[in-house]
Amino acid sequence: IKSSTVPNIDGSINNTEEDDEDVVDLAANSLLNKLIRQSLVESSHRVEVLQKDPSSPLYSVKTFEELRLKEELLKGIYAMGFNRPSKIQEMALPMMLAHPPQNLIAQSQSGTGKTAAFVLAMLSRVNTLELFPQCLCLAPTYELALQTGRVVERMGKFCVDVQVMYAIRGNRIPRGTDITKQIIIGTPGTVLDWCFKRKLIDLTKIRVFVLDEADVMIDTQGFSDQSIRIQRALPSECQMLLFSATFEDSVWQFAERIIPDPNVIKLRKEELTLNNIRQYYVLCESRKDKYQALCNIYGGITIGQAIIFCQTRRNAKWLTVEMMQDGHQVSLLSGELTVDQRASIIQRFRDGKEKVLITTNVCARGIDVKQVTIVVNFDLPVNQAEEPDYETYLHRIGRTGRFGKKGLAFNMIEVDKLPLLMKIQDHFNSSIKQLDPEDMDEIE
Ligand code: ADP
Repeated sequence: IKSSTVPNIDGSINNTEEDDEDVVDLAANSLLNKLIRQSLVESSHRVEVLQKDPSSPLYSVKTFEELRLKEELLKGIYAMGFNRPSKIQEMALPMMLAHPPQNLIAQSQSGTGKTAAFVLAMLSRVNTLELFPQCLCLAPTYELALQTGRVVERMGKFCVDVQVMYAIRGNRIPRGTDITKQIIIGTPGTVLDWCFKRKLIDLTKIRVFVLDEADVMIDTQGFSDQSIRIQRALPSECQMLLFSATFEDSVWQFAERIIPDPNVIKLRKEELTLNNIRQYYVLCESRKDKYQALCNIYGGITIGQAIIFCQTRRNAKWLTVEMMQDGHQVSLLSGELTVDQRASIIQRFRDGKEKVLITTNVCARGIDVKQVTIVVNFDLPVNQAEEPDYETYLHRIGRTGRFGKKGLAFNMIEVDKLPLLMKIQDHFNSSIKQLDPEDMDEIE
């Protein structure tokens, strides 16, 4: 996806004039996170709950047993290696499994257990004796739908009579086919087509409706309207659940339009700080000079792994080639690659197969690689007005206070960019020390 009007996560707009800059693709980022995530994301915050009926008792569970699930479903959960509910699941699961069903809007960053929660809800509400669609889950892309389907298949491994079907582009179903599968996962356009034009799904029989990745969904042209059209045709007793990793006003407005009488659950994101990070800058004359400084630093700090950020694809490519020619083992993560290719590069990096990852401005945004101890800004992040992009600086270098390790950050600065660096220093009220690249002893 490349467009001059696709906003970044922080609302800024990328510049297409500088054609080789990567644009944030929310759906791709989300998929990437799923492909590389192997465990829950920790959080030090408490879950905030807003009940539609504040006088009703609030239940939370500490074990999956307390949920009184079907035996085969519990088996599936344990087979996935889950021991106890995640923070968000502790509160969300009792609400989702309550009788009568309750509607829910839930927001927490990716990796906190939302998908597992609604998959569990869908699986537990399926009546295996009935052979027609009963649960409908909307996802923003084909790939994200498949990922959710995989979770259904894994968690439902022992629920042998439950079946999943994908309502996605390219999945051709002959007219008049009788769909007997109980769980349908699809993108809004195709689902709409299957429901209204082709009459393959009877929406009045759906009892659980899930709208996943609402923030990504509303970012895609037409998806909000299509989702709302689908939702309008559901029976009033259908349980409606909406999930989002972020919660800007636009997501909130959409959520309130589409989910009647909801309970709301929120888990705040960990704040990033620069507190545990020692920041340095190296003054340079030119790009070549920056490269030389980088090599000196690289020689001095072979411990741990590093990510190097460049402002443009072109710069990133240039730097990768230079470093490779000098015999360094580096890999390049760029927006030109497919999501699968990116996932495999990140995976290799995580496994320690490469020590250095070179990437562009936004490519690695939202993708946490915890063990990285060194971040290099080969170019300072700036916005279109050539002002410092503070948000991006913080995202590249900052760590979450409680779980983040200590880190080192290096900024390669051409002399004329020094005022930008000073602004960053003032903005965060943290000191960035000058470093002589010939004298790495200063770091210790
Ligand atoms: P989200 O939908 O919020 O991004 P997921 O449901 O995909 O989060 O969960 C993130 C990761 O944590 C997945 O690898 C998932 O298998 C795992 N996970 C989810 N719930 C639990 C749990 N209760 N215990 C252990 N791991 C879990």
